[in-house]
Amino acid sequence: MISLGTCFLINFIVIGVSIYIDISNQKKNRKLYRIAYIDPITTLGNEAYFKENGTNFLKTVQKNRYIVALDINRFKVLNKLYGYDFCNEILKSLGQKLLNLLPEDNITCRISNDIFTSIFSYKGNVKALLDKIFNEASRLQVEDTNITLNLAIGVYKINQNDTDINKAIDKSYMARAKIKGLYNANYYIFDDILENKLLDEQKIESCMEEALENKEFKIYYQPKTHTETEKVIGAEALVRWYKNGVIIPPNDFIPLFERNKFILKLDLYIFEQVCKDIASWKETYGFTPIISINVSKEHFINENFVDEYVEITDKYGIDRSKIDLEITESATIDENIDTIEILNKIKEKGFVVSIDDFGTGYSSLSMLQSMPLDILKIDKVFVDKADLSSDRNIINYIMLIAKRLGVKTIVEGVETREQVEYMQKLKCDVIQGYYYSKPITREEFEDYFNKNR
Ligand code: C2E
Ligand code: CA
Ligand code: CA
Repeated sequence: MISLGTCFLINFIVIGVSIYIDISNQKKNRKLYRIAYIDPITTLGNEAYFKENGTNFLKTVQKNRYIVALDINRFKVLNKLYGYDFCNEILKSLGQKLLNLLPEDNITCRISNDIFTSIFSYKGNVKALLDKIFNEASRLQVEDTNITLNLAIGVYKINQNDTDINKAIDKSYMARAKIKGLYNANYYIFDDILENKLLDEQKIESCMEEALENKEFKIYYQPKTHTETEKVIGAEALVRWYKNGVIIPPNDFIPLFERNKFILKLDLYIFEQVCKDIASWKETYGFTPIISINVSKEHFINENFVDEYVEITDKYGIDRSKIDLEITESATIDENIDTIEILNKIKEKGFVVSIDDFGTGYSSLSMLQSMPLDILKIDKVFVDKADLSSDRNIINYIMLIAKRLGVKTIVEGVETREQVEYMQKLKCDVIQGYYYSKPITREEFEDYFNKNR
């Protein structure tokens, strides 16, 4: 027989243990919740939190609904300048400021790097509210330092029948991208211009796969000329889309393909077509020009693309030192990617490596020094801006950097004889531009190469 006292004791222990289990489960759940939904830097919600709560918001709140996407222009530069710890404090302080400036019951989250999103309902003058956010959220005090941020704010006034949070986010992002090209504007509100762009993009997306199968993407070649001898040495391969008899330039579809990742397929296709052309030129004419091919930074997420490219060159028996892979400067400064490792792999396989649009990104000299490069390709904006009567041009400085790094230089966008002579004076190695030739078809390039080599 168990005594009454023992019974009590057992009961007591059982209750005690279950309370303990309950509390530790709660703690564990809270911890899991934090990991799943809370951004550790700002203690705001993260992307998953925003999407879940934003979806509920769309279901429960019906009127005067807005979604705002905001980021800090050139945040990467701030990171380099002030270091990660200090910049994390900036993010934290910006997050708190937004919470306070936005209307009550807002849902404000940091959904990636320096991008904040907020969803709320507001009956008042929304433009005044946005001006206030632009002016006040950009001025922060962090660890006794006054910081002024340059914010990019995109806004979407949510339609009555919108229920998909992802689509609402996309529209606020489109508005935010639009503001980046504008001066003297504090924010951009999604409008009919963007709505039409969205519809155009949806049309393009619905026919891009078919276009690839139907071989609607064609390669144009723009000759590259040796500066001193003025003989052609090769070309850059540039894609054109032949759609229903109209030629669409790459700027109208490449940015979209980079966002939806179709560029991975298209670039691979272009690469293979170029290899076929090189193989046939070698067979027919016995010459092998050096062809530059653009590699979108989307490939860098996965270094396997290098193996795919190697396989194709092997298939067509191409000497890889005749293929120059152009990688934009902005691709090389993405913190999330180990660029150096990928560039090393590309170099190891024997390809030539160029940094495209050089001077428009913000790579540092120390970064460049650790990068395995062969060529700096100077962006055409510097040719346009160059005062050819003065030596104090950016091109001059870039030439000095190139010399220091021991790499070759090519300049693009050269349109006049005067500019050619200036590049000769600066001893820039190679010139590409309308002065010699616009991008031309494969057949025209064969002709051009035979005449000018
Ligand atoms: P990019 O790589 O910077 O290519 C140079 C662009 O400058 C080309 O425009 C070319 O036609 C233009 N250009 C060359 N010389 C001159 C000049 O003297 N004056 C002027 N005003 N322009 C000149 P395009 O062909 O429209 O290409 C635009 C961009 O599209 C390229 O810029 C590149 O970023 C992208 N792109 C083109 N083809 C491909 C591709 O196959 N794959 C990828 N990923 N991107 C591509
Ligand atoms: Ca290029
Ligand atoms: Ca370029």
